[in-house]
Amino acid sequence: MYPPPLHHVFHPANADHYASTVRAGLEHLVRTLGGVAGPATGRSVAGAAARVTAVDLDVPLGDTGAALAELSQVWLDDAVWFHEPTYAAHLNCPVVVPALLAELFIASVNSSMDTFDQSVGGTFVERHLVDWTARRIGFGRTADGVFTSGGSQSNLQALLLARGALEREPLGRLRILASADSHFSVQKSARLLGLGEDSVVCVPTDERHRMDPVALDRSLAACTALGLRPMAIVATAGTTDFGAIDPLPEIADLARAYDTWLHVDAAYGGGLLVSPRYRHRLAGIDRADSVTVDYHKTFFQPVSSSALLVRDGALLAPATWHADYLNPEDPAVASPNQVDKSLQTTRRFDALKLWLTLRMMGPDTLGDYVDALVDLARDTYVAVADEPDLEVAARPELSTLVFRYAPSGLDEPALASLNTRIRAALYESGRAMVAATRVDGRQFLKLTLLNPLATVGDIVGVVDLVRATGARLLADEPAAVASTLEVAR
Ligand SMILES: *Cc1c(COP(=O)(O)O)cnc(C)c1O
Repeated sequence: MYPPPLHHVFHPANADHYASTVRAGLEHLVRTLGGVAGPATGRSVAGAAARVTAVDLDVPLGDTGAALAELSQVWLDDAVWFHEPTYAAHLNCPVVVPALLAELFIASVNSSMDTFDQSVGGTFVERHLVDWTARRIGFGRTADGVFTSGGSQSNLQALLLARGALEREPLGRLRILASADSHFSVQKSARLLGLGEDSVVCVPTDERHRMDPVALDRSLAACTALGLRPMAIVATAGTTDFGAIDPLPEIADLARAYDTWLHVDAAYGGGLLVSPRYRHRLAGIDRADSVTVDYHKTFFQPVSSSALLVRDGALLAPATWHADYLNPEDPAVASPNQVDKSLQTTRRFDALKLWLTLRMMGPDTLGDYVDALVDLARDTYVAVADEPDLEVAARPELSTLVFRYAPSGLDEPALASLNTRIRAALYESGRAMVAATRVDGRQFLKLTLLNPLATVGDIVGVVDLVRATGARLLADEPAAVASTLEVAR
């Protein structure tokens, strides 16, 4: 059609259309929210796929109401809701309202963070937040950093920088030392950097799933003795499964002794930076060369919001590349371009979410939320640890609880199958969601607690639902575990 309809474009001439469309969307969302009755509806894979693939993308619906109704069908009606207190599966947080207000502005204004001339004040909002986070870490004046799409990208960039610091070393000799409980993005980053499958040395952990510094010392010495070069030590401040915080001061001593880059992956534990009561658990983080913080985990921000912080901003240089069309290398027109620090080029102004959050709520309220989660995990542990039909893998370090339903008389394969089926049954029921993981080869369930509105009663209720579901599955299908019961008898 010529001319095409132009009212879709964000423009002052279309302000009424913009406002009424966003308002209709907001009303639809609020209505949807009011009707949510649990963390999920349990829609099957096939059912979810069928609803979406039936849509003919070449035939638009035209009006907002019809599009919103279809949106409910393909997505919202069966969405997983992280604000529901019985959602306790992955590291997803309910999000705070100031950040949602920011999202509207981020998307509408659509600043791009690569260059100053596409963001102006936005560049300095991001830089101010980077400086704020660096100060919370305890870094000095030389510190810098950049927002990223998530912890995986932050970890990748950190390891890229560590690799850059040893430019002359052949790739095949470089080693990354990380604990057995570190995040899988460490392995993926090593692969992306071309370091080879053997490049990540897995350092054993103690009974609390923290990196064992004696074992780290031994691994570093062994690498050196073999003529290999330790490129980086990745300490985790809040492991994904156990929330374990590696002993940062001891690890920092070893990093210095072996002249090795220290990266602290605080994707999960970063929220402790604002904690009024548990900040001390991150003691030693200021001795890192680089730190990953995921604001979209323990700062209650919508995805995506993460940052990589470095002790010495000059070390971000490997991310700099000059292009005549974007950021020319010309001292006469030097401008503060964030692209010089980033792996991304066009990039969302995600920093604005944290900005409005801090300006409207303040860091202490965020920290109180984090503290509430730590307390919630501890109190839930106390409430369930001694139950005879439950096996709890470890005392919570942050806000996860790894456990399983383990009535007596079942062997390991039966317990694995039973707990896997409990998890699936909970999803199908729509009443609660839990995650799963393995501990020393044994199947467990995991509660990840990131909802400051959840109470001990809510979470003990989820555990009770796990037990009741397990008991029902055993009663309904004794055959499924009969063989193992025979063995046990
Ligand atoms: C979640 C997580 C990551 C990855 O972060 P994304 O934002 O999901 O990319 C890295 N490390 C740890 C310890 C994590 O928990």
